[in-house]
Amino acid sequence: MKKDIKSFTLEELKSEMSALGEKNFRAVQLYDWMHKKCVSSFDECTNLSESLRNKLKENYEFTSLKQVRLQESAIDGTKKYLFELGDGNFVESVWMKYHHGNSVCISSQVGCKMGCRFCASTLDGWERNLTPSEMLDQIYRITAETGERVSNVVVMGTGEPLDNYDNLLQFIHLLSDENGLNISQRNITVSTCGLVPKMKMLADEKLQITLALSLHAPTDEKRRKLMPIAERYSVLELMEACTYYFEQTGRRISFEYSLVGGVNDNLKEAEELIALIGGMNCHVNLIPVNPIKERDYVTSDTVSIERFKNKLEKNRINVTIRREMGRDIDGACGQLRRRHTQSAHSEE
Ligand code: SAH
Repeated sequence: MKKDIKSFTLEELKSEMSALGEKNFRAVQLYDWMHKKCVSSFDECTNLSESLRNKLKENYEFTSLKQVRLQESAIDGTKKYLFELGDGNFVESVWMKYHHGNSVCISSQVGCKMGCRFCASTLDGWERNLTPSEMLDQIYRITAETGERVSNVVVMGTGEPLDNYDNLLQFIHLLSDENGLNISQRNITVSTCGLVPKMKMLADEKLQITLALSLHAPTDEKRRKLMPIAERYSVLELMEACTYYFEQTGRRISFEYSLVGGVNDNLKEAEELIALIGGMNCHVNLIPVNPIKERDYVTSDTVSIERFKNKLEKNRINVTIRREMGRDIDGACGQLRRRHTQSAHSEE
């Protein structure tokens, strides 16, 4: 198999080029084409000679995702992209415009094995990990398509990023590299369902990224109803890992809490949540659950959502309700990809 040229750091690329008998500055030029100018083939790297481009083509794969669908929300301008990977798999990514800048949500795996009950990304199971270049190229293709700079990246699309740890780390280094898109680590968020050993490993890397934990319930009993991973790690172990992350990095934890009507949105759960995280340096993001047709979960009503939020606020917990974006375009994670692959199968 050919090596994946867009997954190398600049230093690694320099040693690859020197093995081909090329000077360092050629690596700098190529890196700039790939990671700053976001080109999608060797042939666009016009200051490299044709013979060098041919040599590169023989030895390396140039990852470039193909946009197969684009849905744009008429309400808020949110865009959902469906990309085809080199092996025929599909991933989806989302572009959102906020007053503080443009945000892109990327996938980290094809499918997911975590099995969260309310999530569409996991219904067909897990296919494979994405490479660093496949994660990057979601952002590069969107940058090229919109013609606008991406200021924030959230790894909250399909997949469990900490289950693809090494590739995730390489991706973060490349994305925040000053020779590439140079996106500040403070503007990168990684969301996990709570793989405790990996959360601690990530803390030890001492990056400046935000760690978001999908908590969704304040007790083990409730959490196990929503997320199979809760059988492996307890809420107490999660809290210890979050505290450790804060101690090592100085970055406050962001808790995600998807509100499911009648399941985890009562005052009792709000009180249990306060007892659990009160006094921690953290932020809570309430997400009214986006119902998927394969499950019978319903979203919380407005009154319950407000009541939950007010209760947290009264106890001095930073809390926001996630604004619903792209309501008209297959909002929930994994829905677009799933619809696309299902209709492809039914045409067979
Ligand atoms: N595997 C990672 C990241 C992907 S999911 C994680 O679990 O955090 C990103 C976030 O969206 C998670 O908090 C997830 O629980 C939530 N989510 C998934 N499907 C949802 C739905 N239908 N409604 C609301 N939130 C959902």
